[in-house]
Amino acid sequence: MQQELFAKDPVDQFRPFCYVQGRKKQSTYFGGDRKKGNALMKRGLLSFLLIGVLAPLLAVWSFWSTIKNAVKKVWRAAKATVRTVVRVVITVVNALTVGVFDLLLGFLTWPPKKLRLHIFILADRNGPIVNPSDLTQSLEYAKQTFKDRFNVKLVPYGENMVEIIKKPAPDAALTPDCGVGALNNEFLGEAGEYYASQLAGWNALPISLTFPITAFVVRDVHNKVGCSLGPLTDYLTLDIGGVASKSTLAHEMGHVCNLWHSCSKTNLMWKKAADRGNGAKGFQKNLLRSSRHVQYW
Ligand SMILES: [Zn+2]
Repeated sequence: MQQELFAKDPVDQFRPFCYVQGRKKQSTYFGGDRKKGNALMKRGLLSFLLIGVLAPLLAVWSFWSTIKNAVKKVWRAAKATVRTVVRVVITVVNALTVGVFDLLLGFLTWPPKKLRLHIFILADRNGPIVNPSDLTQSLEYAKQTFKDRFNVKLVPYGENMVEIIKKPAPDAALTPDCGVGALNNEFLGEAGEYYASQLAGWNALPISLTFPITAFVVRDVHNKVGCSLGPLTDYLTLDIGGVASKSTLAHEMGHVCNLWHSCSKTNLMWKKAADRGNGAKGFQKNLLRSSRHVQYW
């Protein structure tokens, strides 16, 4: 066959072998089926695009997002560490100045002090988690308990004590963890970063010498109705169940102001909300009143 074609076209006989081979083959590729050839060419080109271009691009993009997420986490942890160090420094300075004075005075008398509280009700896509009026009972209970037990008056930090953040909060902030999970949130999570960005009296650093407590009303605190990391943070979280229980707000505020759990049911720091009293022992009064959140001004 090839010999015949060569014979019909004498010029081909003088062309290099490979060219002649190619030219002759061209007419017989895929049995001369040009459509099939084109389809296969397209498929080849597509495979090249997928494997040669898109795959490396995807790999670079995934590598870049991994790096970006890691940098984000390190940055979050760094900011949380700065916040914690600042709090520890303030706590120590406060304890060595006003705190010592309060502690000594505590054996004689408890002059009136003030605590600034700001409550933020978070919202999801359906609106605020609760209405401000839903907080009346627990707010009144906290005011009364702090006045009666510690001679501390709860006052608003801003114009109003209760405010709604209308812009929907991230899911992580609406359903936070407590305990180790909350610590993890504070240092690495989206929830901790969100709370820090909304804290009353703080910008990157504290901007108010009254060191207010911020309470965030969230949808659900995992396995709890409220949560606080104690003096490590300046905020507490309270979920729908916590709002419904009258003593949870006051109890979590106790944690923020240095108090730990008590094994007496009649005490404000009793673990279970259902049968908790609102009593306080002498040392609890001194500890709470010497917190940086409780001031004479
Ligand atoms: Zn507790």
